[in-house]
Amino acid sequence: MPSMHEKVEAFAKNGSYHTTHSRKTSTLLSSTFTPPDLTTFAGLEQLGLTAVGQHLSAAKAEILCQVTTPNPWCRTCGAAGVPRDTVIRRLAHQPFGWRPTVLVIKHRRYRCHTCHHVWHEDLSQAAAERQKISRTGLTWALNGLVCQHLSVSRIAEGLGVTWNTANDAVLAEGQRLLIKDPTRFNGVKVLGIDEHVWRHTRAGDKYVTVIVDLTAVRAGTGTARLLDMIQGRSKAVFKTWLAKQDEQWKKTLKSWPWMGLPGSKLRPPKSCLKP
Ligand SMILES: [Zn+2]
Repeated sequence: MPSMHEKVEAFAKNGSYHTTHSRKTSTLLSSTFTPPDLTTFAGLEQLGLTAVGQHLSAAKAEILCQVTTPNPWCRTCGAAGVPRDTVIRRLAHQPFGWRPTVLVIKHRRYRCHTCHHVWHEDLSQAAAERQKISRTGLTWALNGLVCQHLSVSRIAEGLGVTWNTANDAVLAEGQRLLIKDPTRFNGVKVLGIDEHVWRHTRAGDKYVTVIVDLTAVRAGTGTARLLDMIQGRSKAVFKTWLAKQDEQWKKTLKSWPWMGLPGSKLRPPKSCLKP
């Protein structure tokens, strides 16, 4: 077994260090370490961004980013654009720990000398137009609601955005994922239902009922899948939803347990959302 000093030397020399831990169960757990990298840690590659700076405070962690692969070609005529100025767009991102993470994206604005078109660098990989939350942040929020039973208030707090922003974004992202996949009902044999407190109000709590596919969970072969989200909480809400579904599809169902009732032991497992 190499000493800690040898490990540090190997790390400094090779940029990585491969180590093996022996457990009591005699199973081997291997980990490959690479140099610390904020871009990969925060999952920015999938957003087309590279981290170039950080600003940490007690209230939030800000990551300064730039577009990894600039695209200076005019979208109207295809000529090379000339950098005009730099603008900043801020996106709420998946939180790491208890403070919100904010992406501060410094990106260029170009002007075309041929057709005079002016455009920003494309940030659509990081977030939809006018969206205040990164795509990773949206997935975190939807997972939080569906799998971790977080309230929208808690999600808003984690993202560092207002309740309305979080609520609108989570609903839209849920619908986007669901509508994008018209085949999501195929192969469903076991329906599961779960309820979440959507909003605490003085007049009482508001709920959303989440409908999941538990076929793979029941068979022991996989995790639950999100199928739909409907506002309200009662058997009537579910029955109304079920009545709208395809008759042939309903005949293929084996069961639809009412999971949200007190005393129910069935819950979607954590990290259940596989969009
Ligand atoms: Zn042009």
